[in-house]
Amino acid sequence: PKQTSPLCCIVVPCFNEEAVIRKTHERLLNVMDRETSCRFEVLYVDDGSRDGTFALLQDFQAAEPRVRVVALSRNFGHQIAVTAGLEHAAGDAVVVMDADLQDPPEIIPRMLARWRDGVDVAYGVRRKRHGEPVFKRWTAALFYRLMAALSDTSISLDTGDFRLMDRRVVDAFLAMPERDRFVRGMVAWTGFRQEPVVYERQARLAGETSYTMKKMVSLAVCGIFSFSIVPLRVATWVGLTASGLSLAAIVYALVVRLFTEQWVRGWALLLIGVMFLGRVQLMVLGIFGEYLGRIYREVKARPLYLVRQQLGFPEHNAVSRT
Ligand code: UDP
Ligand code: MG
Repeated sequence: PKQTSPLCCIVVPCFNEEAVIRKTHERLLNVMDRETSCRFEVLYVDDGSRDGTFALLQDFQAAEPRVRVVALSRNFGHQIAVTAGLEHAAGDAVVVMDADLQDPPEIIPRMLARWRDGVDVAYGVRRKRHGEPVFKRWTAALFYRLMAALSDTSISLDTGDFRLMDRRVVDAFLAMPERDRFVRGMVAWTGFRQEPVVYERQARLAGETSYTMKKMVSLAVCGIFSFSIVPLRVATWVGLTASGLSLAAIVYALVVRLFTEQWVRGWALLLIGVMFLGRVQLMVLGIFGEYLGRIYREVKARPLYLVRQQLGFPEHNAVSRT
């Protein structure tokens, strides 16, 4: 019956995952063999791993015709790796999943069931996070709430990049030309029918998170500045408030100067006023700079990533559409 059954491609970005990828592959194959409602394909994106990840992926590919591998020319980061995967993915539905088994592949059949019911995006929502430090949980919670408060696009709370997308959504996503890729926000923006699939986030099975503090902050900044112009408005409001305050200070200074004898005093106020305004100006400049930098990156229009090698693509001209 398989001739007409739909194709589902599972995209797995990998960066230095040699400790866990074998296990991931096993569990994925397991799920693929048990779920009979569609044909499967796994697309591993090697995001410039410096360990044995690529060699392992080569082995998987040699042993299993349903595996494809795209190796990027260097580490481009998770969001770009996901984008590269989506660009190379065939299929009527595409699933994006982390390589470290924090997103259990056993949830995929549930996502597929939602998809068959006509849902275009079935996104994983984490009910519990096992084995993640309190600090990460808190910063993540804070980030999701800040995003929700600032963003024009509503991005569901506690949602990562683990999701199933219909081909329509994938194509819409790929039609977005921006360099700054906040994948979950862009997918949320496309609309269509999006529904949550709740699961418990597992602890990373092995290896270490490569989301360092720096990467987490830059993802959060990307989420906010690429999806919201509220900071620019904040700049305006802060500017207005500051001008109100300085007007009051000016009036005060004039009154003291004209009607009292002690006008040399008040240098503290002067100093505070100057410092305060200086700070406000720098902050506002910083916000402008954040957007300016983004515009600069977009205008340069460099390719998002470069492919070093691809395995398991019979149609050898399936080259990236960067
Ligand atoms: N990843 C990637 N490129 C990177 C960093 C991470 O492709 O530069 C992959 C990584 O292999 C994993 C997923 O993105 O499959 C999520 O990364 P990680 O588990 O380190 O993040 P966390 O789950 O701690 O947020
Ligand atoms: Mg992880």
